[in-house]
Amino acid sequence: SKEVAGGSYYFYDEKIGKRTIESVKYENALYRALERDEFTLYYQPQVDLCKHRMVGVEALIRWNHPEEGLVSPDIFIPLAEQTGLIVPIGEWVLREAVSQLKKWHDKGFDDLCMAVNLSAAQFEQGSLHRIVKQVLAETGIRPELLHLELTENQIMRNTDLAISTMNKLKELGVHLDIDDFGTGYSSLGYLQRFPLTTLKIDRTFIRDILLDEDDRALTDTIITMAKNMGLEVIAEGVETEEQADYLASRECTMMQGYFFSPPVPARKLEKDFLTNDQG
Ligand code: C2E
Ligand code: CA
Ligand code: CA
Ligand code: CA
Repeated sequence: SKEVAGGSYYFYDEKIGKRTIESVKYENALYRALERDEFTLYYQPQVDLCKHRMVGVEALIRWNHPEEGLVSPDIFIPLAEQTGLIVPIGEWVLREAVSQLKKWHDKGFDDLCMAVNLSAAQFEQGSLHRIVKQVLAETGIRPELLHLELTENQIMRNTDLAISTMNKLKELGVHLDIDDFGTGYSSLGYLQRFPLTTLKIDRTFIRDILLDEDDRALTDTIITMAKNMGLEVIAEGVETEEQADYLASRECTMMQGYFFSPPVPARKLEKDFLTNDQG
């Protein structure tokens, strides 16, 4: 359910992280997956319709399980969070994503951005700031080209700690984006306390944007309020031209979704999006 209450806007969704019993069978294999080099990153373009091109990519982890094939992060990320393995896995993701970005910059696509998802445990780990700083120093990537994605729920767990961690990251010059915006339980006004750059509108709102008046109203509200707060907005899960047109008509021109491309391996992204005539 979603409600708009007395001047502040609250978005609430009872759908919380579901963990399946089947996932338990992956637990042991997950322990070994990092050392066996079974993880890989896919990249999904983020486009800016104003600029008529891809401006960045989001790194999305995949697990190439020896018997099961590609396992969805929706299955193994919750498990990795539960076991604490998410911390080393998340550090691997950050290093891998930034070093891939460096390769693309070296090929001449030097204003491409990279968005990396952070888990709660990683975010609450004292060493995150040091690791991000080190990765930036090692690669020489301009900090403003790195976006770290956090969910509302992550930053609401312990708001004082979250604000201080975010301030430290912000000092490095990286961007902080709120992922899945609208599905958590916070108000836009409240978010003003956090040093954010971008709100990423959750794909469940975008899905029904042309069918459901409430979703449309909420999306319009998020876009308007974000702009009033000086934040960027990006819509995720854009699957059709109609959705893209609607969002553009509301001046939300940053988008990500199957309409443009699913997440793909680095080489496929290069082939489809990083040819020199686009650079
Ligand atoms: P997310 O961060 O919200 O990522 C977006 C998800 O939406 C991705 O699922 C992507 O494949 C999917 N998607 C993209 N465009 C569309 C579309 O047009 N329609 C639909 N229906 N879906 C679309 P994916 O890759 O399976 O990742 C699922 C979740 O797993 C992510 O959701 C994120 O929460 C988590 N995750 C993925 N990679 C990482 C990672 O490296 N670290 C952490 N901590 N979490 C990750
Ligand atoms: Ca994300
Ligand atoms: Ca998301
Ligand atoms: Ca999600």
